[in-house]
Amino acid sequence: MDLERLQTDILILGSGGAGLFAALHAHKAAPELDITVASKGLLGKCGCTRMVQGGYNVALNPGDSVERHFMDTIEGGKWLPHQELAWTLVSAAIDRVQELENEIGCFFDRNPDGTLHGKAFAGQTFDRTVHKGDLTGIEIINRLMEQVWARPIRRLEEHRAVALVPSKDGALAGVLMIDVRTGAFRFVAAQAVLLATGGGPTMYRYHTPSGDKSMDGLAMALRAGLPLRDMEMVQFHPTGLLAGPDTRMTGTVLEEGLRGAGGHLLNGAMRRFMGDYDDKLERATRDVVSRAIDAEMRAGRTTPNGGVYIKMSHLGPAQVAKQFKGMVDRCRDCGFDLAGGLVEVVPTAHYFMGGLICRADTSTEWTGLFVAGEDASGMHGANRLGGNGVANSTVFGGIAGDVMPRWIAANPGYRAADAAVLEAEVARALDPFSRKGGNLNELREKLLDTMWDDVGVVRDRAGLARGIAALDAIEAELLATGVADDGRAFNLTWHDWLNLRSLTEISRVIALAAQKRENSRGAHYRSDFPGEGDLATSRFTVARQRPAGIEITDEPVEFTHVKPGETLLREAAE
Ligand SMILES: Cc1cc2nc3c(=O)[nH]c(=O)nc-3n(C[C@H](O)[C@H](O)[C@H](O)COP(=O)(O)OP(=O)(O)OC[C@H]3O[C@@H](n4cnc5c(N)ncnc54)[C@H](O)[C@@H]3O)c2cc1C
Repeated sequence: MDLERLQTDILILGSGGAGLFAALHAHKAAPELDITVASKGLLGKCGCTRMVQGGYNVALNPGDSVERHFMDTIEGGKWLPHQELAWTLVSAAIDRVQELENEIGCFFDRNPDGTLHGKAFAGQTFDRTVHKGDLTGIEIINRLMEQVWARPIRRLEEHRAVALVPSKDGALAGVLMIDVRTGAFRFVAAQAVLLATGGGPTMYRYHTPSGDKSMDGLAMALRAGLPLRDMEMVQFHPTGLLAGPDTRMTGTVLEEGLRGAGGHLLNGAMRRFMGDYDDKLERATRDVVSRAIDAEMRAGRTTPNGGVYIKMSHLGPAQVAKQFKGMVDRCRDCGFDLAGGLVEVVPTAHYFMGGLICRADTSTEWTGLFVAGEDASGMHGANRLGGNGVANSTVFGGIAGDVMPRWIAANPGYRAADAAVLEAEVARALDPFSRKGGNLNELREKLLDTMWDDVGVVRDRAGLARGIAALDAIEAELLATGVADDGRAFNLTWHDWLNLRSLTEISRVIALAAQKRENSRGAHYRSDFPGEGDLATSRFTVARQRPAGIEITDEPVEFTHVKPGETLLREAAE
């Protein structure tokens, strides 16, 4: 077997906020350890942390509190979050933001008195979203990248992880990777591995996450037999730009602030329609507005490209151009006048609340495997608050970096990889070269349409059954389709094939979990079960790969900090 071998103490998969924070913390905790960050893209240039516009939620200013941030997270998550994880998120965010400013070198916007400025974000009872204009992610990821570069941390850029590899006795031995540049297979033996590949629901017709994300991390975890939680929970942002099928700008986010500032949504008949759905009109929460737009689209009241319009001009074009310069520029690049005219928008898949089950110290069921960022589950329950995403990746990435060296000290040593598994995984990845090339683009389009139409913003029994049947057919067709060019160096068609395989596998889990949840909570809406169900007996779904197929079960949510109907806020309780 043609396989290069490397060895490292800690292997981190992904170079977003979670992966880079883990690397820095692990190096600080144990500088003698060899640490490697492996990433599908280039360090600092890939993943979604770089794309963060809005900001970072943290309870810093007088009047706010960790308890308030926690209650917003729990209520926003519709009582499904794992409360210990949510508590860790909101309490550790304070230290992490201070670390970002004082040790990593980020500069966030400030109030005149020098305190950090917090802006308003939907679903929160306090303006706690710390930011750097609307380019917060670039500030965070660039500074993290510089800090990683300045340390002896090994980088495997443009390396795609394809399998978590066990030893013969089932311990974690390391990760099989493909060097995208050469096409060579590389087995990286590691004492501890962090999964931080960033989730990312890119299997929907309209989506926001970066193109390098194709759910590989969760697909690997599923194949390793690990439990995935809340897989039905896909967050849609209501206003993705709709600029036609020929541009990758379609699906990218037009920020929530547009609706917050007083923007109107009009259907294709030029009628303002939000009054038909919610008293808060355009300021209703993301899920409500997404469903309203979806309903207008299904009723055929659409714009030329099949969405609805956002209109800002009544607020004064000059004011809009000043307040939303970045958005106005983005729309102009696509031929739309946001300040003075109309822009076509559509709901767009934005964030994945589901993921690998973990403890508050980021450890998982498989000893030696840790998880952080959007690959992990439980922090957000049925809905993620805007601003809690980057807080999640940086908080838990840092925790993983603290914990992994301690774990290695207590469990030292490498485990020899099971040669049969390694061989089978290499064969699995090379499988498409054994057949004639086919039309991958057509298959991808089928996947995007299936997920959009049948497992999307609004679901029901018939649609989910149809979606699952279509996913089975797509997978069968994919497995019968090859890659024409058999050169492995920078063979992007091969990687498209591998992307599609991960996306199809995880899409099926999303659909099956959505079938299992017979109520409507947060981002998951079933038109045949529109009620949210009894909060006090809330359950979360768990998906596992079994020999006979995917098994979906559910388990009760433990209300370890607060029960439905109660609050941790003293003034509200009194
Ligand atoms: C447009 C946009 C705007 C957003 N705005 C906000 C906001 O304002 N506030 C907020 O809190 N959150 C926001 N989010 C969400 C937030 O960006 C993410 O939740 C968070 O950054 C995820 O961090 P992460 O480290 O888990 O993953 P990412 O930053 O996405 O990094 C994932 C990494 O994994 C790598 N990878 C993927 N597959 C593999 C593989 N097979 N092998 C090796 N490496 C792999 C990728 O290349 C990348 O390096 C936004 C997201 C988007 C898309």
